[in-house]
Amino acid sequence: MNHKPQAGKLVSIAPGIRRLTASNPGPMTGPGTNSYIVGYGPFAIIDPGVDDPAHLERLLTACDGELIGLLLTHRHSDHVGGVPELARRSGAWIGAFEKTTLGSYDAPLRVDRPLIDGERLELGGVRLDVLHTPGHAADHLCFLASESGLLFAGDSVMADVTVVILPPDGSMTDYMTTLNRLAAIPMRHIAPGHGRLLDDPAATIAGIMAHRRDREAQVLNALEAIPMKPDTIAARLYPELDSQLLPMAAAQVEAHLIRLGEVGAARHDAAGWQRTR
Ligand SMILES: [Zn+2]
Repeated sequence: MNHKPQAGKLVSIAPGIRRLTASNPGPMTGPGTNSYIVGYGPFAIIDPGVDDPAHLERLLTACDGELIGLLLTHRHSDHVGGVPELARRSGAWIGAFEKTTLGSYDAPLRVDRPLIDGERLELGGVRLDVLHTPGHAADHLCFLASESGLLFAGDSVMADVTVVILPPDGSMTDYMTTLNRLAAIPMRHIAPGHGRLLDDPAATIAGIMAHRRDREAQVLNALEAIPMKPDTIAARLYPELDSQLLPMAAAQVEAHLIRLGEVGAARHDAAGWQRTR
């Protein structure tokens, strides 16, 4: 069951939990966005995914007319594009972390049920604990099905794809805090927003943290005593990179620079970023 997800194929991954992957593969989305159907009936869906009629139809069929709730890990369109249509057709409530200032990649959505950290939900016979896990997005939530030891990680942890942190809604400092917190929670598997089910949560999270620390060290090393712009640093760090992907890489570098600024290793003014020591 841990193979790369196949779009359109409904897969049971734990008692009361099924996965349906949308057909939006890409460099940022891996094989496509994973929607998870939770419960033995009635049902809730974590991340309905893109607004693709075939995907939404499959979700509705899997819920057999008993879809009561839509749980959102965050508001990026690859996770929530299908929410308005699915809510309209099923009457399901929309549950998300409340957010007053939307990030540039957020879809504006009605929230019927504001979810908060530490809250416990009972959905069709499955218990889910709500965790506020900012980093990828300020409103990011993960859901823990403690009975099966399964963490629905959204875009906090992905399989085989690096999580993108785009400031200011994304924060590298928050992301590292989130990873530390997740590392301390007992769990058996991670069900990510993109990609296959992950069987070794501790090693996966430790690997992501090590990767981020390496990147941070690279960015710090690239800094000089004269101010530099994030795109100059990105071009220097990734000389092979496709020029179309450079703005995204520059945003990642900037996320690391902001964190380096927060810990006092870098500073910036209008001219750019430089090292402090
Ligand atoms: Zn995503």
